[in-house]
Amino acid sequence: MKQTVALGLFSGGLDSILACRVIAAQGIKVVALKFVTPFFDYDLLAKKDEYTAEVERKYGLDVELVNLSEGYLDLLRNPTHGFGKNFNPCIDCKILMLTRARELMARYNASFLVTGEVVGQRPMSQRRDTLRVIERDAGCAGILLRPLSAKLLVPTRAEQEGLVDREQLYGFSGRGRKPQMALAKALGIKDYPNAAGGCMLTDGNLGGRIEKYYAGAYTPDSQDISVDDVNLLLVGRQFLLFDKFWLVVGRDEKENDRIASYWRPGDWLFEMTTHPGPTALLRLGDAQIEGHRKEEVVNAAAGIVVSYSKKVNGEAIPAEVTVTTGRGRVSQMYKPLAGSKLQLWRIE
Ligand code: SF4
Repeated sequence: MKQTVALGLFSGGLDSILACRVIAAQGIKVVALKFVTPFFDYDLLAKKDEYTAEVERKYGLDVELVNLSEGYLDLLRNPTHGFGKNFNPCIDCKILMLTRARELMARYNASFLVTGEVVGQRPMSQRRDTLRVIERDAGCAGILLRPLSAKLLVPTRAEQEGLVDREQLYGFSGRGRKPQMALAKALGIKDYPNAAGGCMLTDGNLGGRIEKYYAGAYTPDSQDISVDDVNLLLVGRQFLLFDKFWLVVGRDEKENDRIASYWRPGDWLFEMTTHPGPTALLRLGDAQIEGHRKEEVVNAAAGIVVSYSKKVNGEAIPAEVTVTTGRGRVSQMYKPLAGSKLQLWRIE
């Protein structure tokens, strides 16, 4: 007999682990889909094999990474269902993930989808009426099974057709975690994360930065936001000089390397040559300079770089910085910038 296949939305949190395992326990092959975007879990793309082996070892699940970046960057412009407390468009985010999962069903020959949603667990995205909206807008009516709350919801097609035994599903609701913890114990799942993973959009500071970017505060072409722009937004110390020039300064060697790797033609790169200190990138310097004195902007940016360089007797000292712009590379000495300017131009 052909084995039934289901696709599970796998955040890596306990509820998603349980949902996949509860369905797998009925002899169904579950492929766990782990969506990543620059705002959450993007680093997993660089260590795919390690991650899939870890999920298999800890939870006995097959996991596939799915990069959702492209659609996600567009989604943030104007999510139909709005934002949560910060810049997190949870309802539209779930709709996008489910839509992509539904599109992937044919590739895996899957009969239905599984999520770890629990009725009433989250104020915005897991209210009973919201669950229905998410299902409808993702085109998943009848094919989306939520094993942890299934007994409180209308039976799905998989239950009606006997692919899944509804009796072996659950009726969890609300914010309490005890039933999930007891189920984890019963299934022998021990090593699971306590809290939901780090979605940067729910973070007041980082989410705020991203929101400002979309509002056009950092570059004139925020409509063309790329994965690189987001990565640059989420690294280092951030500055907006003269209300216009977006400068990102590394805090350690790893960040310096990352920042340098985001350079593209038209950006200005600042590197310390003789004295230890940060690397910085001023995005779109060539395009933005019209109407400003280049020397003033370069002095300010290089001054910030020097301000964060290695101190001598507790003080930043003048040091050489190599500046790469569209017109070539120039190295010269720059003075540290006054602390008041640093504060004025720093973005939280
Ligand atoms: S917290 Fe982030 S990843 Fe989770 S649903 Fe909301 S926007 Fe999506």
